[in-house]
Amino acid sequence: MGEKKMALPDIVKAGDPVLHEPAQEVRPEEIGSERVQKIVDDMVKVMRKAPGVGLAAPQIGVPLRIIVLEDTKEYISYAAKEEIKAQDRRPFDLLVVINPKLVKKGNKTAFFFEGCLSVGKSMMSPLVALGQALCVDGFRAVVERHLEIEVTGFDRDGQPIKINASGWQARIFQHECDHLEGTLYVDKMTPRTFRTVDNLDLPLAIGCPKLGAR
Ligand SMILES: [Zn+2]
Repeated sequence: MGEKKMALPDIVKAGDPVLHEPAQEVRPEEIGSERVQKIVDDMVKVMRKAPGVGLAAPQIGVPLRIIVLEDTKEYISYAAKEEIKAQDRRPFDLLVVINPKLVKKGNKTAFFFEGCLSVGKSMMSPLVALGQALCVDGFRAVVERHLEIEVTGFDRDGQPIKINASGWQARIFQHECDHLEGTLYVDKMTPRTFRTVDNLDLPLAIGCPKLGAR
């Protein structure tokens, strides 16, 4: 067995059509294939290397409906305590969902800043920014997201799965599932909240909704 280290795929940036068009379903009989398993492995590695708390297959240039997500105690430890509480952010183990179907539950929503590995340049000190948003990169904007969702789909072994998520995890799911529709957070951000990470703590413009849950 050659243990040659294969280069990881690059993260695709905004403008590439793969990020702006709907992705295709993975055929059930293909889930166990070497190709799909390799894509999942690559996605997990790329997400952890970035680091980010979620990644969708189009972000490595693969137009398939696959998402991975994970939030760790370590990542969360970089965020401010009151922010963690307001965002209802709790660690969860790695999740791989193939052909996810997301249903929004109830009508409670929350406004918070989020970012995306595919929007803007990578930063030099990503961990500092990680606490602030979904993925790590140079820009952020406020996005309204549902607080409770349910996702069904298949795990990497092809077994059906169902996940009920709330708070920050629900936000990550919505962000990643949007990628599969060709939608970036900037396509649905609250107008006039877009900014660089350096300016994250500056006040919102007059008229912008306050951060937090509704
Ligand atoms: Zn993203």
